[in-house]
Amino acid sequence: MITDDLIKRATAFHGHLGPFLIIGLRIGLLAREKLKPKEIHSIKAIVKTKLRTPYSCIIDGIQVSSLCTLGKNNISVLESDILEAIFETETDKIKIRVKEEIINKIISLKLKRDSPEMIKFSEDIKNLKDLELFEIEIKEIV
Ligand SMILES: [Zn+2]
Repeated sequence: MITDDLIKRATAFHGHLGPFLIIGLRIGLLAREKLKPKEIHSIKAIVKTKLRTPYSCIIDGIQVSSLCTLGKNNISVLESDILEAIFETETDKIKIRVKEEIINKIISLKLKRDSPEMIKFSEDIKNLKDLELFEIEIKEIV
């Protein structure tokens, strides 16, 4: 579950609140909830994103919530036109892709950083259901 405390910590780390940061937080939380890594080094992530803001803000959200961080060397980022994260433990794998309609919606709103509209829209993103935001694929690794 995404808590206000987690959002506060992510905002402090990233520097501002925004919808892509919230999406990143939710991706990391979802991955941990589904894969249940035994400890901090038993999960790794590959994030696919355009390597420019606001898309890349997702990376910081994922780092704050997923246990996968640059400093632990268990996250890597690939340039891509899609927005997706793949997480792996020894036994399971999950692919979480942000729905294109969500990305298009965010971009089309042209929200200004720190505006009340951006705060409000970030709140909306926080409250959407997983399946409204993401396409999710879970696999067992044999
Ligand atoms: Zn940002």
